[in-house]
Amino acid sequence: MKTPLPWLSHKEWAIRKWGGPLYRVPVDPGWGCPHKKPGEMGGCTFCAEDGGRARQTLGVDSPAAQLERGVTFVRERYGEGKLELYIQAYTATFSSVDALKAMIEPLLGQQNFVSLSLGTRPDCLPPPTLELLREWNQQLEVWVELGLQTAQDATLLRMNRQHSWAKSKEAIFKLQDAGLQSCAHLLFGLPGESADDMFATVEEIVALPVQALKLHNLHVLEGSLLGEEFKRQPFPVLPESAWLELVMQLIRRIPAELPLFRVFTDSENRLAPKSEFSKGEFLHQLEVVMKKRGWFQGELCFQKP
Ligand code: SF4
Repeated sequence: MKTPLPWLSHKEWAIRKWGGPLYRVPVDPGWGCPHKKPGEMGGCTFCAEDGGRARQTLGVDSPAAQLERGVTFVRERYGEGKLELYIQAYTATFSSVDALKAMIEPLLGQQNFVSLSLGTRPDCLPPPTLELLREWNQQLEVWVELGLQTAQDATLLRMNRQHSWAKSKEAIFKLQDAGLQSCAHLLFGLPGESADDMFATVEEIVALPVQALKLHNLHVLEGSLLGEEFKRQPFPVLPESAWLELVMQLIRRIPAELPLFRVFTDSENRLAPKSEFSKGEFLHQLEVVMKKRGWFQGELCFQKP
């Protein structure tokens, strides 16, 4: 029998929580981001023009059509399982509450979703939006995926995030007060950050009331400001093999009960780093190396009470 992974993956977490796999169905409402003007590069320097759209939503128009295509994709590829409506691209709460309600509620009625996940910025959670999320949270589990990236203010400034780490913490506490689940999206290998800075980010985040993490290694993307900078003057970017070593050290310092919804960046339009692994190969290597070394999630930190 296969021994469990040395980290708590999304799949394993879903089995424990929902009794089986939870599949995400991405829908992009096309609202954009308050921090990025349509058709222009700008906003966060690492963000490409498509703002993190899922492949399945590209080139499909209405949210209802995206949902239909997404569900078909999930069923054909993975079969049965519970579904989550996943509004990830750009900033999902960048709209009026009325527009958010008008877009999401028909989609929720279209399928039997057990959860709803919305990606946003820490400075994009006004009280009426939180109130609406709290209402939805009575019917299904509502997750907010917060793009935080790093706890280092100097890096946030350099990456033109336009918010501080204090703002990130404030957003996490607002979500906790509203009874919502939060997943922190963190980015490692950002220019100017040392390994100590990255460990410090993990130390900060695990002390906060978040319910999941996404750990990403930086990809310098075509169509991003960072990509333009890289083309003018190439700078060192964390190779995937170095990310494999680093992410193991991060995982060892993350409490064992905190699920890791992602540990590897998967993108097609990158300028750097060079692709060394497919996602499957990376996850396999991570498992093999951690098991060989006897390492596991949380071994170097105190458990949360
Ligand atoms: S990373 Fe998020 S907040 Fe930054 S520009 Fe892109 S969509 Fe906007």
